[in-house]
Amino acid sequence: MGHYCKICGRIRADEKFSGKGHRNHVCKDCSKKPAAERDKLTAMNRMYMLYQYSNLSKNNRKMLQKYLQSDSEEIRNVTKEILDHFHKLREGSLEYGEDTENVYNEQCDDLLEAAP
Ligand SMILES: [Zn+2]
Repeated sequence: MGHYCKICGRIRADEKFSGKGHRNHVCKDCSKKPAAERDKLTAMNRMYMLYQYSNLSKNNRKMLQKYLQSDSEEIRNVTKEILDHFHKLREGSLEYGEDTENVYNEQCDDLLEAAP
C-alpha cells in the first residue's frame, strides 16, 4: 500500500510520509523542499492532470487564471501551454460543428486573451 504525494505526484511507500505528511499528502523528501519549489511542483501536477480532459471546468479555469498571475515564470509558461492545448482542441472540434461542447473552450479563449 502506498500513499499519493501531491508534490512529486508519485505513489510512495507509507514510511516515506510523516504523520503530518500523510494528512497533507506531502512525502518526507518533498517536505524538505522550499515552499516556492513545493508550490511550483504542485501547480505543475495539477495542470498536467488537465490534459486528460477535453474541456476546462469552471474550477480549473479559475485555477489557471490564478496560475497566470504566478510569480514563477515556469508556472506561467505551463499555464499558457495548457491554454494553448485547449485552444487547439477547440479549433479542432469546431470543424465538426459541435458548438454546444465549446462553451468552456470559448471561455478558455477569454483566458488566453487575458494572458499577459
Ligand atoms: Zn513527494
